[in-house]
Amino acid sequence: MDFGLSEEQAAIGAMAARFASEQLAPHALEWDERKHFPVETLRQAAALGFAGIYVREEVGGSGLTRLDAAVIFEALATGCPTIAAYISIHNMCAWMIDAFGDEGQRQRFLPDLTSMATLASYCLTEPGAGSDASALRTRATRDGDHYVLDGQKQFISGAGVSGVYVVMARTGGEGPRGISALIVPGDAPGLSFGANERKMGWNAQPTRTVVFEGVRVPVANRLGAEGDGFRIAMAGLDGGRLNIAACSLGGAQAALDKTLVYLRDRHAFGQALAAFQALQFRVADMATELEVARTFLWRAASTLDAKSPDATKLCAMAKRFVTDAAFEVANRALQLHGGYGYLAEYGLEKIVRDLRVHQILEGTNEIMQVIIARSVLGARP
Ligand SMILES: Cc1cc2nc3c(=O)[nH]c(=O)nc-3n(C[C@H](O)[C@H](O)[C@H](O)COP(=O)(O)OP(=O)(O)OC[C@H]3O[C@@H](n4cnc5c(N)ncnc54)[C@H](O)[C@@H]3O)c2cc1C
Repeated sequence: MDFGLSEEQAAIGAMAARFASEQLAPHALEWDERKHFPVETLRQAAALGFAGIYVREEVGGSGLTRLDAAVIFEALATGCPTIAAYISIHNMCAWMIDAFGDEGQRQRFLPDLTSMATLASYCLTEPGAGSDASALRTRATRDGDHYVLDGQKQFISGAGVSGVYVVMARTGGEGPRGISALIVPGDAPGLSFGANERKMGWNAQPTRTVVFEGVRVPVANRLGAEGDGFRIAMAGLDGGRLNIAACSLGGAQAALDKTLVYLRDRHAFGQALAAFQALQFRVADMATELEVARTFLWRAASTLDAKSPDATKLCAMAKRFVTDAAFEVANRALQLHGGYGYLAEYGLEKIVRDLRVHQILEGTNEIMQVIIARSVLGARP
C-alpha cells in the first residue's frame, strides 16, 4: 500500500496549484465582490485538461483517475474554492454523459464540454425535493420521439450561463425508479431562469432556478434507459462528493498557510504570535486534521477508482468528514487572524463563507450520515 502520490500525480497537482496561484487567487476577492463568473478563466482551466478529468480521451477528456481529480481540485481550491467547485460540477455532468451516454451523445456533447466551449449544470434539486430528491416532480411526458418537460429546479449552479443541463425528471411513477436523466440544451424553447440568488458565499458562480414550460427534448437526449435517471444522478454524486471535499481541503489548506505566515509576522505581548505554545498547538491540530482528511479522501477516491462495492459509503464518509473538518480549520484560521480575519482584504472570511455550503450541497452532511448509517446498520435496523 502506497500512501504517496506518483511522480505524475505530483506533477498534475503542481500544474493545478500554479494555475490556482497565477489565474485564480489574484482575482478571487474581486470576483466574489462583483459576483463575476469568469468563463474565460474556466476555459483556460479546460485547456489544461481540467474540464473532463475522468472523461475518456477520444472525446477530449483527460482519462485520469478520481484520485488525480482529488489532487487537482484541492490544488485549484487553494486559489478559489468557488471556481474549483463549479469546475467540479461541470466534471460531474461531463462524466455522466461519458459513462452513461450512447456513442452519439458522447460525440455530440463531450468535445464542447471538455473544452468548456459549453458549460454544464446538474439539475436534481427542486423547491419541494432537496434531500428527498427521489420525490422530485419535474415531469417529462413522452410525445412521439420527444419528451415534454414541465417543472422547476432550484439552486442550480451555473444556470443561465451553461449550455447543457443534465436534468433528472419523472417519466414514470412515484419514487426513484420513475426518474430519467435528460440532456437539455440551454437554448431549448420554454427553458427560462430565475434571478441570480443572493447568497453567503460561492458568489463567483451563479445559482438560479431553472424553469421548464413545455420544453421539448428529443428522446435521443435521454441518458441510459427510462427509469435509470436516479441511479445515474447518484453515481455522479459519488465522485462529486469527493471533489467537493477536495475543494474544502484546498480552501482550508490555503487558510492554514495564510495563518502560518500571519502568526510569524504578528507580534503581541513582546513576541511573535507563533511563539505562544497555545497557538502552536492550535496550528498543530489544524495541520493534523487536514492531513487526516486528505489521507482519507485519497483512500475514498481509490475505492471509487477500483469500483469497490463500498465506494458509495466511503465517498459519503469523505464528504461528511472532510467538509466538516475543513470548515472548522478555516474558521479557526479566521480566529487566529483576530479582527483582520474578519476583513475581506485578508481573504479568510471568503474561504469560510465559500466552504460553509460544502456541508450543505451534493447531499447535506446529515444525508451523508443517513447513507453511512444505512450501510453500517443495514437498511432495516
Ligand atoms: C449554493 C448552492 C448551490 C447548489 N447547487 C446545486 C446544483 O447545481 N444542482 C442541484 O441539483 N442542487 C444544488 N443545490 C441544492 C442542494 O443540493 C440542496 O440544497 C441540498 O441537497 C439540501 O436540500 P434542501 O436545501 O432542500 O434542504 P432539506 O432537504 O429541506 O433539508 C433541511 C434540513 O433537514 C435535514 N434533513 C433532511 N432530511 C433528513 C433526514 N432524512 N435525516 C436527517 N436530516 C435530514 C437536512 O440535512 C437539512 O439540514 C445547491 C444548493 C446551494 C445552497
